[in-house]
Amino acid sequence: MSQQKFNQARFEAALARQWQRTGLSSADEMTSHQWWQALSGALAEMLAAAAPAKPAKQQRHVNYISMEFLIGRLTGNTLLNLGWYDEVKAALAAHQCSLSELLEEEVDPALGNGGLGRLAACYLDSMATVGQSATGYGLNYQYGLFRQSFDDGRQIEAPDDWHRERYPWFRHNSALDVNVGFGGKVTKNNEGSVDWQPAFMLRGEAWDLPVVGYRNGVTQPLRLWQASHAHPFDLTLFNDGKFLQAEQQGIEAAKLTKVLYPNDNHQEGKRLRLMQQYFQCACSVADILRRHHLAGRHIAELPDYEVIQLNDTHPTIAIPEMLRVLLDEHQLAWDDAWAIVSKTFAYTNHTLMPEALECWDQRLVRALLPRHFMIIKEIDRRFKKQVDKVWPGDEAVWAKLALLHDNQLRMANLCVVSCFAVNGVAALHSALVVKDLFPEYHRLWPTKFHNVTNGITPRRWLKQCNPQLATLLDDTLKVEWVNHLEALQGLEAFADDAAFRQRYRQIKYDNKVRLADYIHRVTGIKVSPEALFDVQIKRLHEYKRQHLGLLHILSCYKRLREDPGMAWVPRVFLFGAKAAPGYYLAKNIIYAINKVAEKINNDPLIGDKMKVVFIPDYRITAAELMIPAADISEQISTAGYEASGTGNMKLALNGALTVGTLDGANVEIAEQVGEENIFIFGHTVDEVKALRKKGYAPLKLRKKDKHLNAILKELENGFFSNGDKQAFAPLLNSLGEGGDYWLALADFASYCEAQKRAEQHYLDQEAWTRMTILNTARCGMFSSDRSIHDYQQRIWQAKRTGSSNG
Ligand SMILES: *Cc1c(COP(=O)(O)O)cnc(C)c1O
Repeated sequence: MSQQKFNQARFEAALARQWQRTGLSSADEMTSHQWWQALSGALAEMLAAAAPAKPAKQQRHVNYISMEFLIGRLTGNTLLNLGWYDEVKAALAAHQCSLSELLEEEVDPALGNGGLGRLAACYLDSMATVGQSATGYGLNYQYGLFRQSFDDGRQIEAPDDWHRERYPWFRHNSALDVNVGFGGKVTKNNEGSVDWQPAFMLRGEAWDLPVVGYRNGVTQPLRLWQASHAHPFDLTLFNDGKFLQAEQQGIEAAKLTKVLYPNDNHQEGKRLRLMQQYFQCACSVADILRRHHLAGRHIAELPDYEVIQLNDTHPTIAIPEMLRVLLDEHQLAWDDAWAIVSKTFAYTNHTLMPEALECWDQRLVRALLPRHFMIIKEIDRRFKKQVDKVWPGDEAVWAKLALLHDNQLRMANLCVVSCFAVNGVAALHSALVVKDLFPEYHRLWPTKFHNVTNGITPRRWLKQCNPQLATLLDDTLKVEWVNHLEALQGLEAFADDAAFRQRYRQIKYDNKVRLADYIHRVTGIKVSPEALFDVQIKRLHEYKRQHLGLLHILSCYKRLREDPGMAWVPRVFLFGAKAAPGYYLAKNIIYAINKVAEKINNDPLIGDKMKVVFIPDYRITAAELMIPAADISEQISTAGYEASGTGNMKLALNGALTVGTLDGANVEIAEQVGEENIFIFGHTVDEVKALRKKGYAPLKLRKKDKHLNAILKELENGFFSNGDKQAFAPLLNSLGEGGDYWLALADFASYCEAQKRAEQHYLDQEAWTRMTILNTARCGMFSSDRSIHDYQQRIWQAKRTGSSNG
């Protein structure tokens, strides 16, 4: 398809309808915010009128189910993808209205936590761009991830009421409503067929956002389900006289899509969360089957036309839900239903960490979803026969592979058994999925396991967030690179061109000025754009080790106080991170960083040599400002725990040099950019395992390292906390008696040494700029367009040889 042309007359008419609807008598009466609403509403209307895209021949439609979509602001990005930015800017200028100003009026729809939700958003952008027909399925949370502020350095959470009711990009289509049942009982009738009578029903409403491909005329939906009451009439179908009781439960349950759970890489066994998961899955499965039937296709053909990609295990319950519909509503035999389901679903694993692998209390599942529980038991029973053939009588193996074990339902196991493909998200991670997490499953089905290294969309993460660099790339490469990111290789030749380096360096500097202004506006802190900007932005988690970053800051501060004349490159340490409200230690780490920052930033002997800034409320919009301004990218997780990372890719693409461990996609970044253009440090995966096996004793390590001991002492003795010796007790305890599970102390010396190397390179600005250019030039493979091609080739369109399981 080709680019959709901008039609000025249609635009003006749509715009006029928008402000007329608000009851104003002219466009001039609109506030900036109303202008943003009107512009977005007008564009949404124009996109809705466009003809829907058809899947290419032989292509399966992808249904990407994810509990999170961290989409960021939509208006500017949609204009960029449409290629209408300049025309719209001119049209608005005729109304004395500045496009760039009104784009600042948009709130971030924070419908996700971190990397997993952002990945889903990047993949939608890329599927639309490469012409992969797709629907995203998610939930329309009324309250997104909380807004973060600091009070005396402590994280404060406020609800993010982002006003989904008045969000102009939404299109609601009540013809797509779905009824979803919960609880109740299951009865078997005379013919042996099963009847589930839910205790109460909810209605799912479809709220669609447009996903626009890059200048190719494609618009496809992100469909977000919102819970409302089922019509009371429906209740009469399911309740023998217990109207009031049923309605009462229904009213409670209408809270279903109120809030996004704020945990990242951590599962909580909350009833409401399981209800959210089922609600989303039931609505999405119903929608997929409705489309299939409307197209006049037979149910057995479903896997030829549809694939359902599960973004982690959160939507796993879609598997027994589809089986339920096929068995109970379509009256299929088990084998026929299983044949369909096991060729339709594919699962992406995002973590190896036990605390993030979802398990549900069996009693909870049985009470909420009695029919699904029966179905899961049947999958488990049949699967056991298969395992018994390969490992006769081996109870230890069954204890690992069972779906139902120890009163728990294990969602990852249900996924691996039921899906035709399982993939990890970076080469290292995918190898560990096979080796450490699922070795027995791999023995059963060796061809089921794949790698698809994550990616990021260069439309948002370069062209939109770094417009000056994008222009430089246009001028230099003279080809369309943003949807052919391998074309960046053409930059290599310019790394040795001093005039080019000068332009590239100036752009980085301008981006730093822009960020410095923002920092001053939101924190009151003045930072110099001449300093090295050292950036660690990601969710706050012990495995990501913001506290290792903190130790390095403490080390620098101490050395500078002891030797004020020492050679030193002025640095601004920048953090952005939200901690889950219930994650006590993570919040203590935020507090520690903020208190240390306060001391350093107000130390007259330090001045501009060091500043530490924790930017509040890290989110997509903040990332878009910080990434283009970064000199150093901190990717310092304990090796083996960051499945991929995508922040690492965004930063390297925008010319920040990585200080990182050999973890996740850092390994592939190092391969791409060359080890001379990245600063690798720390224990490797194998070394982490060996160290733990041998017995790691952080207290001994601390005793041996005088400098390390001294900086920890300063945290302990109240130096940074007005004499409060308990201020950082949770953090200090975790690093000492607690055993330092994430090996911050073990990697400390190596980390400081890597930072020293980075600093020495920075002193030679020409050599440094050369390295940053080579990072941009060699990060083409981290485009999410490449990830989508990998999914197509390895998973979605691969020749299916029939399911080996079941
Ligand atoms: C990319 C991104 C992430 C993921 O960052 P990692 O460093 O890979 O954990 C999280 N949050 C936001 C807002 C992002 O843009």
